[in-house]
Amino acid sequence: MKNGTAELWFLTGSQHLYGEETLMQVRADSLVIAAALDKSEHIPAKVVFKPVLTTADAITNLCQEANSSDDCAGLIAWMHTFSPAKMWISGLRRLNKPLLHFHTQYNRDIPWSEIDMDFMNLNQAAHGDREFGFICSYLRMERKVVVGHWQDEEILMSIGVWSRAAMAAHDARSLRIARFGDNMRDVAVTEGNKVSAQSRLDYEVHGYGVGDLADVVSSVSDKQVSDLIEVYRSQYEISSRVLDNPALKEAARIEAGMRTFLQNGGFKAFTTTFEDLHGLVQLPGLAVQRLMAEGYGFGAEGDWKTAALVRSMKVMAEGLNGGTSFMEDYTYHLEPGNMAVLGAHMLEVCPTIAAGRPVLEVHPLGIGGKADPARLIFRAGTGSAIVASVIEMGDRFRLIVNTMEVIECPPMPGLPVASVLWKPYPDLRTAAAAWIYAGGAHHSGFSQALTAEHMADFAAITGSEYILIDNRCDVEQLRKELRWNDLYYHLNKGL
Ligand code: MN
Repeated sequence: MKNGTAELWFLTGSQHLYGEETLMQVRADSLVIAAALDKSEHIPAKVVFKPVLTTADAITNLCQEANSSDDCAGLIAWMHTFSPAKMWISGLRRLNKPLLHFHTQYNRDIPWSEIDMDFMNLNQAAHGDREFGFICSYLRMERKVVVGHWQDEEILMSIGVWSRAAMAAHDARSLRIARFGDNMRDVAVTEGNKVSAQSRLDYEVHGYGVGDLADVVSSVSDKQVSDLIEVYRSQYEISSRVLDNPALKEAARIEAGMRTFLQNGGFKAFTTTFEDLHGLVQLPGLAVQRLMAEGYGFGAEGDWKTAALVRSMKVMAEGLNGGTSFMEDYTYHLEPGNMAVLGAHMLEVCPTIAAGRPVLEVHPLGIGGKADPARLIFRAGTGSAIVASVIEMGDRFRLIVNTMEVIECPPMPGLPVASVLWKPYPDLRTAAAAWIYAGGAHHSGFSQALTAEHMADFAAITGSEYILIDNRCDVEQLRKELRWNDLYYHLNKGL
């Protein structure tokens, strides 16, 4: 299954030196490899074979064609034979699509008894790809290098991971984020430069007074409300007491209004803030949860960077097992030897991460001074997961990722929210110290579908700084890395 219309273009480098017969064979081999990538269940985009490249003009034209193609999410390049890399300079300098350098060869094994000079001349990736690698490094090109045979499952998976990151970056090119209300007063980490975000990360952030949303919500029909309540009854556990609660109708009205507003504006992500709900009866909880489950990115308290991140993570995770949600480190369990993080939010956790059938309930919020909001309550399934946070450092965006294990959570009958209990790698003390030294936010994107490799590829493609906190994390080493990175980002404008 391919997700949407995104394409990855398969480029094969060569030259005229070898003669027509060899070039015909190069083309034939390359067609087979491109078709295999296209067929692979691990690669969610169409892989499109492009004619073998043998001249600088052809290379430059293809790179420019890729730049202007609405469907091209990235390029996969392979040098079957030697392709003198001066031919590639002009094209690569102009290229503004993600690049994967696939270092493979047609044959897996050396045919020991039959190998001759013709075979050697045809199968030269081992040195042809080094020439290509040199020019990419010389030009300081961001790219992913994947090494191995094209039929190897692990190799196809690694290309698939990069493909997903490229598709999320492609999605960001047309991503519009709606902010209902502004930032929560005085909160720093949810702020940032939206012009900088648009110029570096591509997405657009549009602000609206919450009254604009309230207008759309108030025009929702009773029929739309009752239809949605039928959907709730079919998907969730609901008691008759909750079904009779007028708050449920209000929640449905808000959901229908929000969806209409987002669809009409072409938005794929949004933020709310419980400090600014003029015209809305309750904080959107159920609505946010259900819209996230449909693929919308979300950030609470005006957090547009996290809304964009959650959207990108949802694009990357499409079709994979496991859910993806907005998340917040809420409170700790600090028992020695058994430390864990309770992740939750007041309401807005995505039901794609639910282990069982969510329960729909209505409860007071305790803050915000609005009516009791409806929300889905559930626990996430156990197993490996990641959290990721994007912050703005003034001169760059930093993406911080922490790997973790979601563990069983004891019953919490007095806490009616969706939640996740996890043990971060390498351990809570190290992970939290590293996260705090790196400046990671309390808001994050959580995913049981994605791995750190997805996030690393996404950071590289979007030109973001990448900080990984996993089982190899050493806090003192990480503090040095942060200092070195400051120096690098200060100087790299000249590189
Ligand atoms: Mn929050």
